[in-house]
Amino acid sequence: MSVGLIAAATRQWDAVVIGAGPAGALEAALLARRGLAVLLVDKAHFPRPKVCGGCLNAAALAALQAAGVGDLPWQLGAEPLSRLQVSSRRRRATVSLRPGAGISRGTLDAGLVAAAITAGVVFLDGVRARAGLATDQGRPVHLSRGSEQVTVQARLVVVASGLGPLPVEDADQLPATVAPNARLGAGTSAPHAPPQVPPGVIVMMIGDGGYVGLVRVENGALNVGAAFDPEFVKAAGGLGEAAATLVEAADAPLIGNLLRSLRWRGTPPLTFRRRILARKRLFVLGDAAGYVEPFTGEGMAWALTGALALAPLAAAAATSWNEQLQRHWESEHARLVGRRRRLCRAVASGLRRPWLTALSLHLLRVLPQLAAPAVRAINAPPRRLVEL
Ligand SMILES: Cc1cc2nc3c(=O)[nH]c(=O)nc-3n(C[C@H](O)[C@H](O)[C@H](O)COP(=O)(O)OP(=O)(O)OC[C@H]3O[C@@H](n4cnc5c(N)ncnc54)[C@H](O)[C@@H]3O)c2cc1C
Repeated sequence: MSVGLIAAATRQWDAVVIGAGPAGALEAALLARRGLAVLLVDKAHFPRPKVCGGCLNAAALAALQAAGVGDLPWQLGAEPLSRLQVSSRRRRATVSLRPGAGISRGTLDAGLVAAAITAGVVFLDGVRARAGLATDQGRPVHLSRGSEQVTVQARLVVVASGLGPLPVEDADQLPATVAPNARLGAGTSAPHAPPQVPPGVIVMMIGDGGYVGLVRVENGALNVGAAFDPEFVKAAGGLGEAAATLVEAADAPLIGNLLRSLRWRGTPPLTFRRRILARKRLFVLGDAAGYVEPFTGEGMAWALTGALALAPLAAAAATSWNEQLQRHWESEHARLVGRRRRLCRAVASGLRRPWLTALSLHLLRVLPQLAAPAVRAINAPPRRLVEL
């Protein structure tokens, strides 16, 4: 059995964090900085790819700043982003954005994990975790790597496992409602961005079956994120073909063949709600707490601001659990992301109406200032970010 698993099983942990995406890695770092013994586990081997548009918006950058790692994207070579170019049916409009950053998730998440390790977190990758049932003292967490299995003891478990089923034994107590018309996420990358994806610009193309976003990330590489109706993917014959068909109709016939040639990854259905976000000795954070769609590019901002807001509650919970903490987290989470999710749902629903997309693009072309309030609302950091 590997040394890491044996060593993990011989310690009592204040917190075990399941999932080392932006939510879990930042939460682990914040708790370790508060003096807690923290184990962070991820089932993937790091650095790992993750289906994502790779755009940190201004709110996400503000959250990293508040967490004391504001320079991290730039140290990792992120591309500054300042404009959004949207196309549909050969119509195109460009709007200015508050400054953001383009960075691949392999690089960003590995950087956040490295910052967590510097803060004192013990990190195990390639390890699948499942939280057991609560006792008065905490929860067991079952860890497996291939055929090796151990159980560790945690005073608190933070589940930041992203989309898909919760790796929790009493997951039925934390039900999720998946939207009947939920789209699927998809993503890919290439070593060099083509000229149609210029520096500083998020290139977004909208079609009847979904949308595709392309951006330049570190080292001039191309990052692609997309959301499709499942039937559209089926009819096209796969994710790459769906993306190529969509961009060829939208604005960029020359990119179609590039997208066809790349290796795509998909996600489970994107849109779901989870109303209960905590059980005894356990909190749910990040995408695992609910998600809408990627068009507004906010998921990482939600994950990072959520991690900042949860840290004081989680630190208190690791010392002694009380029922108030659950209600406190649910109301804090609703305050932080509730309004933004409603806005994102409204945009997602508008995108399903081709006439509305065409009208919006026309208005944006003739009156680009119309977009300013929406762009401000999407990018604005919450009024109260917990600072360290
Ligand atoms: C197509 C697409 C485009 C997007 N574009 C953007 C964008 O441009 N900007 C933006 O801000 N957001 C974007 N998002 C949203 C963003 O990717 C997510 O909101 C963000 O990754 C959430 O972070 P997280 O830490 O909650 O989850 P994740 O990043 O999904 O991390 C979860 C981690 O948990 C691990 N895990 C899962 N189960 C287990 C287990 N049982 N044991 C151990 N580990 C486990 C996984 O391996 C993973 O590493 C996009 C999403 C999609 C689908």
